Amino acid sequence: MNYNDKPLKIFLKYIWRQKTLFLLDMGCALFVGAVDMIFPFVSRRAMNTFLPQGLFRVFFIAMAAILLAYILRFVGYYIIAVLGHRMGVLVEAEMRRDLFSHMQQLSFRFYDKNRTGVLLSRITSDLFEVTELSHHGPENIVICFITIIGAMIMMAFVNWKLTLVLAVLLPLCVWFTMAQRGKMNIANLEVKKKTAVITSAIESGISGIRTSKAFANDDIELKKFDQANEIFKTAKKEYYNTMGLYMSGMEFTISIMLVAVITVGGWLIMNGQMDYVDLVTFTLYVSAFSSPIRRLTQFSEIFMAGTAGFSRFLEIMRTEPDIQDAPDAVTLENVSGQVEYRHVSFCYDNQIPVLDDICLKIEPGKCLAVVGASGGGKTTLCQLLPRFYEVTSGEVLVDGTDIRHFTQKSLRENIGILQQDVFMFAGTIKDNILYGRPDATDEEIMEAAKLARIHDEIMQLPDGYDTYIGERGVMLSGGQKQRISIARVFLKNPRILILDEATSALDTVTETEIQDSLDRLSVGRTTIIIAHRLSTIRRADSIAVIEDNRIAELGTHEELLSKDGIYAKLYRAQAGF
Ligand code: ADP
Ligand code: MG
Repeated sequence: MNYNDKPLKIFLKYIWRQKTLFLLDMGCALFVGAVDMIFPFVSRRAMNTFLPQGLFRVFFIAMAAILLAYILRFVGYYIIAVLGHRMGVLVEAEMRRDLFSHMQQLSFRFYDKNRTGVLLSRITSDLFEVTELSHHGPENIVICFITIIGAMIMMAFVNWKLTLVLAVLLPLCVWFTMAQRGKMNIANLEVKKKTAVITSAIESGISGIRTSKAFANDDIELKKFDQANEIFKTAKKEYYNTMGLYMSGMEFTISIMLVAVITVGGWLIMNGQMDYVDLVTFTLYVSAFSSPIRRLTQFSEIFMAGTAGFSRFLEIMRTEPDIQDAPDAVTLENVSGQVEYRHVSFCYDNQIPVLDDICLKIEPGKCLAVVGASGGGKTTLCQLLPRFYEVTSGEVLVDGTDIRHFTQKSLRENIGILQQDVFMFAGTIKDNILYGRPDATDEEIMEAAKLARIHDEIMQLPDGYDTYIGERGVMLSGGQKQRISIARVFLKNPRILILDEATSALDTVTETEIQDSLDRLSVGRTTIIIAHRLSTIRRADSIAVIEDNRIAELGTHEELLSKDGIYAKLYRAQAGF
């Protein structure tokens, strides 16, 4: 699917994927419209011919046929409601899948800029509006077109003068109700906004409840809440005002049309240009108009919400992932693990340079430590290696080849990352370790857990590896989470390892324990380690000090100490002499 096509074309393509349901839905819509249109015509025939000529048998057969038609119409409506909505759901599900898989392609840069809540609503509620449109849109158009235009044509055969009156009145009535509906939509939008205000008031009130209790500030919170509630009430009142006007206005327009038909029709009868039966036929038609007019006005609302939702959908679908595999990208295999940064410079979207002309080379299996002030760009440096961000200039090489020549998947399969904040998925311990390599066996999982020194602890839990750890792993301690994430990387067994302040969030005792697992993890792997406790990196094969976006010093621990520069100063400050 080409998302740069016209929106309507893309929309129709999505609908067309469900063509069986769509055609069924349309067929039923056509039928329902046709029944509505034909009934007054048949009654006219009955009153004009069957009854005066005493054809009672024919009359009752005609009525039975109409009854049958109405039963079928009932079935038709039922099918429209059921299958139509089902079709809508299928369209929605497909769009949602495409959207989710497209969002997976987008790089960190995109997620830096967009808020999770907003993206969530794009995937959920926005797409729901689109479903409503995809289902009710075509169906409403068909039903309204058939009933209104069809009825007009039928009426023109009966009496064109009276039809002319309706042809003038009907658009006016539709316009009037649409205008009322428009006001109601605006008020409804306002209510939605105010509901968002109240929701966020509740959210902050509840999530901050521990703090507000601690400060004994319940009153203040309640007052804040009352304000939001008040705004909501006002908005809702306004909405019901407009709704009342719309509802009663619509009934009113139908009555106006009836009165006009009877008045003009009566006048035509007096002049001998029309008979009573035709007048009855006309009133039957006009009464049948209320449903299509309601549909038309509802359609305007569904249309606005749906197209807005769809254009937000397209906005994301049209965002090109800024990091993509080259067309001739190859799979990174049999990695020995040499990593090189060659004249690498980088800045985020704000154009402030973070890294400037960085040159580093790490031989396979060796360990490089990176130190420097917080905010110096150490994490950024690491994130360039798995291509989470693209270098602004220069190149990053693995085994002597620019990483842009490899597929992102194979590159990332060979890099293990451990960070300060560990992300745990809601699920069991086993699920979370398995994330490192989904096809691993139970033995391999346990082996990895043993290497990470977490196995014994897991076995003591009531459900062992099947223990549920809660959302984001809230039921585990920081040290346990970190060790599970280490087990994850053991299982993944990458050639290249990045340890970005992996132990910073932990207390000193836990840190020492975990350091041991980390040391074991880095054996034989090319490792980049960032740690703010310098004692943990003394054994690194080389140490790079980053200052002012550049590499200020590079060498072994001893070399840097004897150089007596930035590193020596930092080290002495931490060691306490
Ligand atoms: P370190 O890991 O050394 O503490 P970082 O690499 O996290 O430093 O950050 C380096 C600089 O880049 C900081 O000035 C920070 O504000 C900025 N920065 C980090 N992440 C982003 C981002 N996603 N978007 C924009 N600027 C960022
Ligand atoms: Mg950092």
